[in-house]
Amino acid sequence: MTVNEYVKKRFGRFMDQCTNEEIYVALLEYVKEAAREKESNEGKKKLYYISAEFLIGKLLSNNLINLGLYEEVKTELEKCGKSLAEIEEIEAEPSLGNGGLGRLAACFLDSIATLGLNGDGVGLNYHYGLFKQVFKNHLQSETPNPWMTENSWLRPTDKTYDIEFGGFTLKSRMYDIDVVGYENRTTKLHLFDVETVDEGIVGNDSIGFNKEDIAKNLTLFLYPDDSDDAGRLLRVYQQYFMVSNAARLILDEAEAKGSNLYDLYDYAVIQINDTHPTMVIPELIRLLQERGMTMDEAIEVVSKTCAYTNHTILAEALEKWPISFMKKVVPQLMPIIRELDARVNKKCNDPDVAIINKDNCVCMAHIDIHYGISVNGVAALHTEILKNTELHKFYELYPEKFNNKTNGITFRRWLLYSNPELAALIEELIGPGFKKDAMELTKLEKFLNDDAVLEKLLSVKEARKAILRDYMKRTQNIELAENAIFDIQIKRLHEYKRQQLNALYVIHKYFEIKAGKLPKRPITVIFGAKAAPAYVIAKDIIHLILCLQELIANDPEVSPYLQVVMVENYNVTLAEKLIPACDIDEQISLASKEASGTSNMKFMLNGAVTIGTMDGANVEIAELVGKDNIFIFGESSETVIERYERGDYVSKDYYEKDEDLKKCVDFIVSDEMLKIGQKENLERLYNELLNKDWFMTFPDYQDYVETKDQIFAAYEDRKGWAKMMLKNISQAGFFSSDRTIEQYNNDIWKLN
Ligand SMILES: *Cc1c(COP(=O)(O)O)cnc(C)c1O
Repeated sequence: MTVNEYVKKRFGRFMDQCTNEEIYVALLEYVKEAAREKESNEGKKKLYYISAEFLIGKLLSNNLINLGLYEEVKTELEKCGKSLAEIEEIEAEPSLGNGGLGRLAACFLDSIATLGLNGDGVGLNYHYGLFKQVFKNHLQSETPNPWMTENSWLRPTDKTYDIEFGGFTLKSRMYDIDVVGYENRTTKLHLFDVETVDEGIVGNDSIGFNKEDIAKNLTLFLYPDDSDDAGRLLRVYQQYFMVSNAARLILDEAEAKGSNLYDLYDYAVIQINDTHPTMVIPELIRLLQERGMTMDEAIEVVSKTCAYTNHTILAEALEKWPISFMKKVVPQLMPIIRELDARVNKKCNDPDVAIINKDNCVCMAHIDIHYGISVNGVAALHTEILKNTELHKFYELYPEKFNNKTNGITFRRWLLYSNPELAALIEELIGPGFKKDAMELTKLEKFLNDDAVLEKLLSVKEARKAILRDYMKRTQNIELAENAIFDIQIKRLHEYKRQQLNALYVIHKYFEIKAGKLPKRPITVIFGAKAAPAYVIAKDIIHLILCLQELIANDPEVSPYLQVVMVENYNVTLAEKLIPACDIDEQISLASKEASGTSNMKFMLNGAVTIGTMDGANVEIAELVGKDNIFIFGESSETVIERYERGDYVSKDYYEKDEDLKKCVDFIVSDEMLKIGQKENLERLYNELLNKDWFMTFPDYQDYVETKDQIFAAYEDRKGWAKMMLKNISQAGFFSSDRTIEQYNNDIWKLN
């Protein structure tokens, strides 16, 4: 049945007589049916990828592409005077993730289905997601981000469980979203929800609610504000709810396939994405004991079933929950956690690797490492830092558990869907094989000196910049400059990612232009970033950028040459528009701090050239493209780690020695800025940089300024630039998440 016939059956009218909303509903159902036909759950052993976040993005077009229906549906719509692009704007983006970690989980699901592996995702069904970012008075404010409309991809199932907490029980229900593989089968994202959830307890334009009413609030928000105990407790409630449901589902499915549970690891492997799902380990042990195993037996079985991915070396992200919290939320787990701790202490007798630390907190990562089969980092450098520094003692205990799995991205979404113009050019040059085997992109190398190809590549970029210009005008009422270089930094706002360094460069450029030193071509610096609602300095950095945006836009001396734009509510949909249009990709984290990064991979695939530090996967990108095709600056991770160890970094020393830096930093609290912005925020940020600068922006500042000048100069050699673009695209194949998932499967999961 064609879509048009389907619509006729559904609404009694053909498409040309339907509204876009009606067509959207019909397409949703049409795709769901097509996906269901490809459902399969074969294979004895199954992977459960448990994650607090799945930043899946909109699904309509992606699913149409993966089902092989995209062109057909698009053409059929056009024949009826309808546009697929307009229809997909009706779809709400599920806000089930925060940043890279959640987006990684989504790319992994796509690759798992595409490779035909038996694996599902398990997470929570947050009704209001993370939050929606709104700018008011140059400040970020947060509102709920509802995404579950009447017609969504969610499918209620009849699977329900009673989940017990200290003192009360909540009923759960499982909802499913189909994950459609590219020309392959459909797997599932299982999202658990609490039956008693009540959206009504949240106000309209704030994200405040009664944090203690667990029955009503449990699945309202991802990462509820944890600046007080009630918020922190709520996170523990959420985590236990997620993993208790997951554990029950896993045992049910294993038993249904014939497991006697003593052989659970032949039926299930669990990937623990960061520490949020750690409680699945003690919970499985508890459930196995309930089903008749001894503690010894249960620990042995579970220890052969779970694997852990570490995503960060930032101490704040290695969760430690006070025992008092655990006793309140999950008293049934405490005896098991104490037993796990006692066994570690008996074996190691070293407080640094204990599960319960001297402050009476449970170190979640330590449970994962002692009681799992694998510990992996997410880029080569990150894994080395884990082994040599952060987790060194664990590495000495279990060298065989440590392994690296460099992150990846799905090329279906980040090339075929988001940049069809580039995909078409690539197909014209090397045929369609790269769609299934991303390594075929290396075939593009033979065109590095082909002027006609380089010209075409530049015109694809121009076309994408025009599309972005239209989109920004239409959706955010922002006019991007014509003929400008698009210099883009999009990622969560965090001091270690150093948006503040980029902002200091903007100030530097502003002064240069004021002094008559004009850039050859206008520069448009685009930021997109959400800050955690309780992260004060991060919000101050947003304030700084928004104030600079206004100051420069209203300065006729500067605005023809420099533009600053901060897009509102950065999400997957915006990323899909921004990345194909990017000339210069900012990956400027403090070396050693960005575990991998994945936007760096999306950008190179779309022909942007990177300016970055030797951090995370930038290191691997630099190795692949060679130092002539990437702009590297800044101190090495070794230097940074040593400096932290010595503890002798004094930002003021740099400030006082460097006049240019001093002038830019002082500008944050200048009269011009205070006229636009809030004194409190700007002064706090100024003082933070001057007296602390924990993520060491100042030592990298001059090198950054010089390297930016080099990259802008390089842009003017259009042919040379196009060559760099092509080299980056040709080397991006390694960063396909299909490669990453194959490695997880070969080394850890061993499915089929
Ligand atoms: C890829 C992606 C990220 C991760 O970006 P990094 O720069 O690697 O931190 C975050 N958010 C969205 C919406 C993404 O698509």
